[in-house]
Amino acid sequence: MEDIYSSCTLCPRRCRADRYSGTGFCGTGAAVIAAKAYLHQWEEPCISYRNGAGTVFFSGCSLHCCYCQNNEISNLLKGKMLTPRQLADVFLSLRDKGADNIELVTPTHFVPDIIKALDMVKHKLGIPVIYNTGGYELAETIDMLKGYIDIYMPDIKYFSPEVSARYSYAADYFEYASQAVKAMTEQAGELEYNSEGGLISGTVIRHLVLPGQRHDSMKIIGWIAENIPREKALVSIMGQYTPFEFVREKYPELSRRITKMEYNSVLRRAEELGIEGFSQERRSASEKYVPDFDMSGLF
Ligand code: SF4
Repeated sequence: MEDIYSSCTLCPRRCRADRYSGTGFCGTGAAVIAAKAYLHQWEEPCISYRNGAGTVFFSGCSLHCCYCQNNEISNLLKGKMLTPRQLADVFLSLRDKGADNIELVTPTHFVPDIIKALDMVKHKLGIPVIYNTGGYELAETIDMLKGYIDIYMPDIKYFSPEVSARYSYAADYFEYASQAVKAMTEQAGELEYNSEGGLISGTVIRHLVLPGQRHDSMKIIGWIAENIPREKALVSIMGQYTPFEFVREKYPELSRRITKMEYNSVLRRAEELGIEGFSQERRSASEKYVPDFDMSGLF
């Protein structure tokens, strides 16, 4: 594989940073940094269906959403450096603990090392590998993952360029996310389940409804209904947006939870369009659901 880290173009920022000597917008150099690896019980029921997803949280992020609940690792880079061999061993150890799958969270900026780690152990895992991403991806990077990823779990966060520019410094977010999600659904193919109801292939598109943005949410739902085949993707509509202290001053409109009316109107739109998937209780909107990044499960 070409050495992408020396002039990085892994995500739509295309910084061309030399990550051996510095960092790009994602804040990370060429070594994988991860903040936690554990069995995560609270993903969608087809993802955490028995013992929990074998989740690995990577540090750094190419989006930097202003309301990020994982700020400690996405911006502050809390975590531990891992070689591809150590990362492969983390995957094996999660499997040995009974993980339902291996779930890679915010993996985009480490794709080359993740591929190296999966080359070492993918054949031994015997459980699906999930790519859980904020959706700001290049279709070319998704193509590199062919044969390594069984299930894609992308967010589609925004439709409007104004909203994505304001909250994630990415006016071109939807332009890239929409193409990447099409590439993911094509690559992962139809939704397939094991005998226990666990998803083994396909795509789960997630969308978090933001305060004041239900019309943007409905446009996303409309786009999914028109562009993504029903047999290839489930849609998870999330209502647990949590207003953190740090957004209140600069983004006062984000300093509240979403209302029941906002959430239900998005769910109703999905129902009208025959979209299948999951909804999530608004009452789970609480800071206590933010994971504790204590580096457990890493070497
Ligand atoms: S992965 Fe990081 S360094 Fe590479 S293009 Fe994206 S933001 Fe820049």
